[in-house]
Amino acid sequence: MFSGSARGMKIGRSIGWIAGVCLDCVRHFVLAVLIFAVSQVPISAFAQQSAPKLIRDAEIEGLMRLYTKPIFQAAGLSPGAVRVYLINDQRINAFVAGGQRIFINTGLLTQAKTPNEVIGVLAHETGHISGGHLARMGQEIDRQSTTVIIGMLLGAAAMAGGVATGEGDAVRAGQGIMGGSGTLAQRLVLNYARAMESSADQAALKFLTATGQSAAGMLTLFQKLANQAIASAQFVDPYVMSHPMPFERIRNLEVAAKASPYFNKKDSPELVMRHQLMQAKLTGFLTPHMVYQRYPTSDSSMPARYARAIVAFRSGDTRNAIPIIDGLIADLPKNPYFWELKGQALLEGGSPGNAIAPLRQAEKLLPSNGLIKIMLAQALIGTETPENAQAAIKTLREAAKTENDVPSVYKLMAMAYGQLGDIPRAELATAESAYLQGDRKLAVEKAQAALKTFKRGSSEWLRANDILNYTRKK
Ligand SMILES: [Zn+2]
Repeated sequence: MFSGSARGMKIGRSIGWIAGVCLDCVRHFVLAVLIFAVSQVPISAFAQQSAPKLIRDAEIEGLMRLYTKPIFQAAGLSPGAVRVYLINDQRINAFVAGGQRIFINTGLLTQAKTPNEVIGVLAHETGHISGGHLARMGQEIDRQSTTVIIGMLLGAAAMAGGVATGEGDAVRAGQGIMGGSGTLAQRLVLNYARAMESSADQAALKFLTATGQSAAGMLTLFQKLANQAIASAQFVDPYVMSHPMPFERIRNLEVAAKASPYFNKKDSPELVMRHQLMQAKLTGFLTPHMVYQRYPTSDSSMPARYARAIVAFRSGDTRNAIPIIDGLIADLPKNPYFWELKGQALLEGGSPGNAIAPLRQAEKLLPSNGLIKIMLAQALIGTETPENAQAAIKTLREAAKTENDVPSVYKLMAMAYGQLGDIPRAELATAESAYLQGDRKLAVEKAQAALKTFKRGSSEWLRANDILNYTRKK
């Protein structure tokens, strides 16, 4: 997993334009109003929102792809066109933004009791995409303000979570932001949102039935959310509370869900295990203080050992982590993510050379996974040998096939070229990563340096020229 730890890698993504639809009606309303209000509130008001914390993880993204593939097919969407993003936020939430992008909070994943609950949420969000709700509600936002907009969007998502969990400060901040949007606008958006929510529910039911899956999980998760909203009623706008939509919506959903022949269908034991491993991983990486409470040493299950191994190596105890991971590998030798974790533990423990073999094994089991390749390249570069620097460049080029907008790919490439003494290519790679990170000054400086050294018209020269042009356009 790549997350925001000191020793881990931060991988952010840039997103073009955004409009939002979120999980249940109350939150949907709050988020919708906020986004509706974009044009009416000075953008600088949002500039101080904290940066988005998007998480990248091969295992969890793989699971989301497994869940969404049949649903997207049933919805007539190309599976490659829609992407699921993980947000590091402990509150239950999910929403669609920026066209065909589904955002899902880690809090939803850790609190979902079954894979079927997660699948139900994804089906609902897919309903928003296939229903074209974003196109109708959305607005194109200037690319220049992408970072600000994402910060605002995630700020809004956090605030929506605040409504449900009764976190007063977040809600008050949000109400301050919403102040300028006007009652009429709020009502218009609310009506719109209500219609869209039931339409997304109906679509989700259709997709789940078409793929032979139960809507029971969607129902239980929405029930949980509705109860949360009611429990913290004092924090919610009175107008929202005068429309007790969640329960009405849930009653409708319940009747329709129970009519499906698949309502009582249960998740397979394999899927339940993957779900539990995902939850253990998220707990280990994101809330390590919870690990021994949730997974006491008396628990010898695979998820418990997984979580404890993560906590061990993240706190610097690689020596105790490795035997636990080796035990997991012995139990499931074909699980690429156990090999990946072993590689990460060794890499973060300061043994890049030893990390190579397990990461190669993970790569062998999942040959087209860009994130595993990035980690492998990191281990190769860590050994500081010319052979491995060459191998890292090859690996990073392969990683770029799926992760070409991840700055780390180019940062690592710059390091590898630097180790080989190829300064022009190192500068070009630095220009590339600076461009992706929005560092215009560095991007221009490095692209200009690269332009001077490469032969006019060569592919490197053209790329440096492109970077200069894109940066100037912004
Ligand atoms: Zn929705």
